[in-house]
Amino acid sequence: MVEYESVIGLEVHAQLLTESKIFCGCSTRFGDEPNQNTCPVCMGLPGVLPVLNKKVVEFAIRAALATHCEIARYSRWARKNYFYPDLPKGYQISQYELPLCRNGKIDIDANGTKKRVRLNRIHIEEDAGKNIHDVRGDYSLVDLNRAGVPLLEIVSEPDIRSPGEAGRYLKNLRAILQYLEICNGNMEEGSFRCDANVSIRPEGSNTLGIKTELKNMNSFKAIEKALEYEIQRQIHTLSKGGKLNQETRLWDTDHEVTRSMRSKEYAHDYRYFPDPDLLPLVIDDKWIEEIKASLPELPGQRKERFTSEYGLPLYDAELLTSRRDVADYFETAAKIHSNSKAISNWVMGDLFRVIKERKLDEQLCITRWPIAPEHLAQMVRMIDEEKISGKMAKTLFEEMLERGEPPAEIVRKKAWEQVTDLGSIEKAVDQALAKHAQQVSEYRSGNERVLGFLVGQVMKLTEGKANPKKVNEILQKRLEPKAE
Ligand code: ADP
Ligand code: ZN
Ligand code: MG
Repeated sequence: MVEYESVIGLEVHAQLLTESKIFCGCSTRFGDEPNQNTCPVCMGLPGVLPVLNKKVVEFAIRAALATHCEIARYSRWARKNYFYPDLPKGYQISQYELPLCRNGKIDIDANGTKKRVRLNRIHIEEDAGKNIHDVRGDYSLVDLNRAGVPLLEIVSEPDIRSPGEAGRYLKNLRAILQYLEICNGNMEEGSFRCDANVSIRPEGSNTLGIKTELKNMNSFKAIEKALEYEIQRQIHTLSKGGKLNQETRLWDTDHEVTRSMRSKEYAHDYRYFPDPDLLPLVIDDKWIEEIKASLPELPGQRKERFTSEYGLPLYDAELLTSRRDVADYFETAAKIHSNSKAISNWVMGDLFRVIKERKLDEQLCITRWPIAPEHLAQMVRMIDEEKISGKMAKTLFEEMLERGEPPAEIVRKKAWEQVTDLGSIEKAVDQALAKHAQQVSEYRSGNERVLGFLVGQVMKLTEGKANPKKVNEILQKRLEPKAE
């Protein structure tokens, strides 16, 4: 049997967070009434002229710098011609033979080693509108709010070797764009979309196999699943002696299969030619230098700093920096209370769970999160100072989530403060021993397992507030066989 390896190259469309569209002044806001954000330019009326939004170019340069691309000082706009109802001009303004950025790279973690995925290019283009099909199939509607929204198309070389690597590449790329504040990365709303090209070849071969292009995946999970399915389908076809077609296939989320949509179209089908309405894009070094100077710390750098500055394991640093808002949250808390590892545990455990439950993970929403980072830090400090037990902290956390109040306030109101003063613990221990003489003598005759029971009784008497460590110590001392 032939062993196959899979070869994957990804094309990402990232919507840029500019306020207005790329060639007109219309708003880019998502979710407005259909066709509200339109004008003669983005509706494609004849005779109108596009005017380039400078911010779009600035954002593209930010992305290029962060992914180590070469930035062309001279690039050009191209018309990509095709007919579709959501494309009123009959062509999309894009870049073709002279894109703005080339030859970049993104590093990903592949089984513990660093792996480089090369970028073929990043170019700027405009988005199309949206067709909305009636569920009964009677008619279709066209919404042009999205027509003319600026996009970056980020094209990788076929360097990715598994669906898992594809997922990691996309997460890294999305984090970079979010850190740069040029794309919100929301996959459900379509502001971060990925077409996945995949082929297989016998292990050890250097030539590329026939690829299929997969579309219609709107989550990281869907992308990995679609790739897994498609790789198996290709292997199955070849090992039966069948042939693969170069084609575009759609992922069917409900049935978890890919289906052939159309045979591959080629560049010449689009009749690309330079857009006569737009001047070539000429960029000077000074502007690039200015943008470079304004770049924020990027996820990779921040990850390394988290390990050195806070002494966090790489695993923690990786997770915490995978989103800029989460990393900011962690740092705010860690500046207030120095037990960084404990704070990291709470963020990676309980915080991430809540983000998932409340479906905040597709958006940058953590700033609106009900527990302020200051409060989380105060809570961890209260545990470290033994003011509350670790167990009580779990309850307190839920309460903080509901109320948004500082932990000290909640603990005071609920009288949850942990009892650490020896006098009252001793009193409770004495009470428990007097009440359970039977278990005491069992313990003294060698059955040490009843200790747990007695600890439980003391905790009950103190309404769960006694410091369990102290309870244990005092109990053991009292239970020691009498000297006589
Ligand atoms: P096309 O002619 O279909 O536009 P490109 O060469 O421009 O193809 O590549 C488009 C994407 O497909 C890139 O991300 C590239 O890495 C990827 N790709 C190209 N050939 C293959 C292949 N044989 N297997 C997997 N991915 C591929
Ligand atoms: Zn417009
Ligand atoms: Mg191509």
